[in-house]
Order: sequence, then structure tokens, then C-alpha cells
Amino acid sequence: MQRLTQDERKLIEPIEQSAMLVRTERWSAINSGTGNLAGLQQQAEELACAFAALPGEVELRGPATVTSIDAGGREIEQANGRHLVLRVRPAARRRFLLTGHMDTVYPPGHPFQEGRWLDDDIFNAPGAADMKGGIAVMLAALQAFEGSNAAKTTGYDVMINSDEETGSLSSADLIAELAREKAAALTYEPSAQPDGTLAHARGGSGNYSVTITGRAAHAGRNPHEGRNAIVAAGALAVALKTMEHSDLAINPARIDGGSANNVVPDLAILRFNIRPKSADAALNFERDFSVLLQHIEAGHEVGTQVHGGITRPPKTVDAEAQRLFDLVQRTGADLGQAFGWQPSGGVCDGNNIAACGVPVVDTMGVRGGAIHSSEEYLIASSLAERAALSAVVLHRLATGDLA
Ligand SMILES: [Zn+2]
Repeated sequence: MQRLTQDERKLIEPIEQSAMLVRTERWSAINSGTGNLAGLQQQAEELACAFAALPGEVELRGPATVTSIDAGGREIEQANGRHLVLRVRPAARRRFLLTGHMDTVYPPGHPFQEGRWLDDDIFNAPGAADMKGGIAVMLAALQAFEGSNAAKTTGYDVMINSDEETGSLSSADLIAELAREKAAALTYEPSAQPDGTLAHARGGSGNYSVTITGRAAHAGRNPHEGRNAIVAAGALAVALKTMEHSDLAINPARIDGGSANNVVPDLAILRFNIRPKSADAALNFERDFSVLLQHIEAGHEVGTQVHGGITRPPKTVDAEAQRLFDLVQRTGADLGQAFGWQPSGGVCDGNNIAACGVPVVDTMGVRGGAIHSSEEYLIASSLAERAALSAVVLHRLATGDLA
């Protein structure tokens, strides 16, 4: 650790691995699957209590209204939990954004509910890596940072949403609001590899439901009078697949609707996901898709209605964002932590933050792996390691090192 200044060495001294571990174990015992509102409420209260150790007022913000299309083609409202927001020294000239998510991919009925130690350093638990351990890292880093002189003139907002795993639909506006005028952002997703590798550029993601309305008729008596919505949905799915190219993956995922065997079906809902790698690919898709819909409508004499769109814009790494990556890597090296970065096929709130023009490193959380599975694990010793990394990065950002 020779390459740390005396201030930096003092900064990371109070970081305590055990405190973070206690929190991670406690938090991962709470089921906070995205749809589990009671669990999310309990998790939010725990977090509010823990983050009260920092200056500023913790608030729990209500979710924005989100709707989806059910199997009958009806638009229904989706329930979401509240999001934690903490604003510290909002009047400061230089401000940062730190984000995390309290939800997990495991609903209450999922068999993976309890944590267990696989060995001295490997903790297998729901959300241990993604990202309850990461939230513990963020808090410990901020507590350490608060002990420095630099903190007195630095502001930051913390946002911990409750719907990241389902696309942050009810928190996207909040993220955009908080990203405004921030010099940089750190998000606490686990590292892209167990060795600490950061996720660099990310593709985007969009989810669509197309409701197709045809005309019902008897399959034997007057089929020519029917307009088959299932056939139109099938044609649309096949046509979408042909629109793929190297910068755009399209996955027609499901067709709902249909009717009895002797009825020409008048309703179908086609659901699909797209993964654009660039802003151009995203833009071109939206244009080509609306042309395709007109063809389907005309060719099959059906009506179409589109719900959804691109909710995670592609995250490219511009020169300013690259400087932040360089700073994080340099800081790691100064702490004796060697890691690089790689592009990621996954999406996260880093996509939304980058889309606001704010440089972001979105894998500042723990080292671990097998996330979104019952084998999810946290490398416990990475808690202190990554908290030190974040604390020094914050300190360097606060003291002007974004060169
Ligand atoms: Zn995550």
C-alpha cells in the first residue's frame, strides 16, 4: 500500500470487515424478491436504519406507476416497493451519485432462502453478492469517507431502488432525477468476474408486448371472415427475428391469446426482448419496427398496439467515463488490488445513469459469482477490499482527481 497518501491510509483504517459481514448476513436473510412488498418494506426499514449513520435525511420514495399487459390483453398496474433516497450536503458544488438495489430475483416461494458458509470465505446466500454485500460495501465506504476533510465540501446522493431486477421501471425517473448534475456515479453491482473484473460497456435492453386484434369467426363455416391474430403474431415473430444483426439481438419470447380449435382467434399478445449494442441500433430498430407493424396490420388486416420499449439504453464508455475507469483501476493498483474490465451482456442501473451523460462504474460491489442462481456466493474477504477501494476512489474524486 505504498502508493496511498497518508490521508488515504488514515481514511481506510476504520473499515471493518466484520460489521459489513454482519449486515450482509442479516440482510440476505430477508426475502426481498422484487414482487414481495412486505419483504421489501422490511428491507427498506433495515437500510433506512443503517444509512441513518450518515449525515442527511433518509426518505423512502413511492414507486412510479408501472403497467404491464396481461394474458387477456388488458393493461394492469404492477405493484412495486419503495426506493430509499439519502441526500447528503446537496448544496455542495461537487456531488456524486451512489446507487444500489435492495431487491433480489428470488420470490418467497423460491427454494433458495437461507445462507450457508461453503468454507471460511465463501458465503452462499440469496442476494449476498447481488447486492446486499454491495450495499454494505457502499455504506462502509461512505462512513470512512465521512471521516475525511474532503467530505465536508462534497455532496452525494444515495439511491437504493426496489425494482432493479425487473428493469427499474418504477425508479427510472428517480435515477434520472438524481443523476442530474452529478460529477460521477458508482453503482454496487458485484464484479463481472470473481477476480474483481469490472463491467465496462453494456448493451441495452427493451421489452415489448404487442397486442394484436383480429376478428373471430367459425373455423369451418366462415373462416374467410375471420382475421387470425395468432397467425399475425407468428408472422410478426418471424419477421422480427430477421431484423437481427451483429449489434442487435431480438428474442420473441411468448405468444398469449388464441381460442378454441374451431374459432379463428381474434386476440394474440406477442412478447419479445431486444438487446441493442449501440444507440444507433436502438434507434434504427424503433424506426424499422413501426414500419414492420404497418406491414403486419395491412397484410393480416389486424390492429396492433405496442406496450413497452427500450428501458435500459445501451451503455457506451466515452472518454469521460473511461477516465473514471482508469481512476478506479489505478486506485485498485495502489491498494494492491489488480483488476481489469470487460464488456458485459447484462444490463443494470449503470445503463440508465450513463444515458444521463454521467460517468459511471457500475460494478463497485463485492467479488462473488453465480448470481441469479441458488449457487450465488459472496467472497467475504472482498467486503473490506472493495470498501477500501470505494472510499479511496471517492476521496480522489472529491479532491479533484478525475483527470
Ligand atoms: Zn444486481
